[in-house]
Amino acid sequence: MQASSGSRVFLWCALALCSAMLASPASTAIPSPDVKDRPPNIVVIFADDLGYGDLGSYGHPTIRTPRLDRMAAEGIRFTQFYAAASVCTPSRAALLTGRLPIRSGMSSDRRRVLFPDSGGGLPAEEITLARALKEKGYATAAIGKWHLGHLEPFQPRRHGFDYYYGIPYSNDMDRVNDERVPSGRAAFQDPKVEYWNVPLMRNETIIERPADQTTITRRYTEEAIRFIERNRDQPFFVYLPHTMPHVPLFRSPDFEDVSARGLYGDVIEEIDWSTGQLLDALERLDLDRNTIVWFTSDNGPWLTFNEQGGSAGLLREGKGSTWEGGMRVPGIARWPGRIPAGTVSLDVASTMDIFTTSLKLADVPVPDDRIIDGVDLRAVLFGTGKGPRDTMFFYRGPRLMAVRHGSWKAHFITQPAYGDEGPETHDPPRLFHLDHDPSEQHDRSTEHPDVLAEIKQLVEQHRTDLKAPPSQLEIPLAGRSQ
Ligand code: MG
Repeated sequence: MQASSGSRVFLWCALALCSAMLASPASTAIPSPDVKDRPPNIVVIFADDLGYGDLGSYGHPTIRTPRLDRMAAEGIRFTQFYAAASVCTPSRAALLTGRLPIRSGMSSDRRRVLFPDSGGGLPAEEITLARALKEKGYATAAIGKWHLGHLEPFQPRRHGFDYYYGIPYSNDMDRVNDERVPSGRAAFQDPKVEYWNVPLMRNETIIERPADQTTITRRYTEEAIRFIERNRDQPFFVYLPHTMPHVPLFRSPDFEDVSARGLYGDVIEEIDWSTGQLLDALERLDLDRNTIVWFTSDNGPWLTFNEQGGSAGLLREGKGSTWEGGMRVPGIARWPGRIPAGTVSLDVASTMDIFTTSLKLADVPVPDDRIIDGVDLRAVLFGTGKGPRDTMFFYRGPRLMAVRHGSWKAHFITQPAYGDEGPETHDPPRLFHLDHDPSEQHDRSTEHPDVLAEIKQLVEQHRTDLKAPPSQLEIPLAGRSQ
């Protein structure tokens, strides 16, 4: 009786093993027949100021994000995914170049982002992902907020994009100086389109001013789908940096008062809808199995805007800070048939890695005439190995504030995200074990001088090859046209 029961158990185990092997990542990772004929399409959806805790699949209790949650369930969800900076401009520069923003001059502690009165932008000698992919005949579009220089030499079509549609900088810039506009933060509580004179551009032409921000998420979505439809017969790269949920918050009439989270939730739920529309379009066009879609955010939530800002979940601080909440963001990738469904990755990864990984996928050489900080995530995506990233540098402008190495993060300098309070240097640096203590509450520096010594050595190495060109963010508008 016992033997017979044992045989049945053995048989069941064998059957279970066989079916598990059939459904294993290895079997689903076989490329579909069309993949070998042309490189994959790449879509990068980049939310603005969306926090680590703002999606259902990252634990938000009252914001519904069924399409993003499904995207994560059908692909890979990173739990330790980092933007390369805690504010817009440097973060975008890093995503598109695969380089820490200090290497391209796209950071400053005096002016942390570009403004309408800035004269600088992403230098022409930087190689963006769009420009690199042109080598393999990709059609390329940037649809959304650019924020890498609004003057002509820095615009998207000077950086490898065939097509541009969107706003050149943040949606809270170009504020109208008029007595009808409430002063200070009051304008954000009940925002009206006419309070901000932000232009909407198609290629180099302003087509609307002020941009009607209530429909901007919907129109970006439609533009992206139209671009994909037009270019379905060749490989394409669509970079979709949403204007939202950066304040002021706007959503289209269909999303008014739909979320239990209020206006901020409405905005996120529209971005969720938008992502679903894109994924549906790829499926309808039969491009699903040859397209990798990424979703992430440029930095953490803007906490000083209270309920108008998002949530970093269990992470400390938000936008503007080098605590985890400022730079750790949701990171999701989906590629049916290649990325095993239902993967949750604890590998440390960064938006800069999208650059390197995309070039590897497209079989384009990674530039070797400059330092590239992005690493190749293919092994993580395809479930064949561990990610190669073991270190993450946390800069605020030109200042190295903190370093993550493995599970440990050392803060050499801390500073409140906003306000007049200056930087505070720590000796010894404050040290946190991020696997055990993701909220960075329990300083372990006195117990682990060995870890600190190792991290200090990494910093020395890092600095030996660091060349920081003059900041583009400090160039005034008048200075450039002379
Ligand atoms: Mg941002």
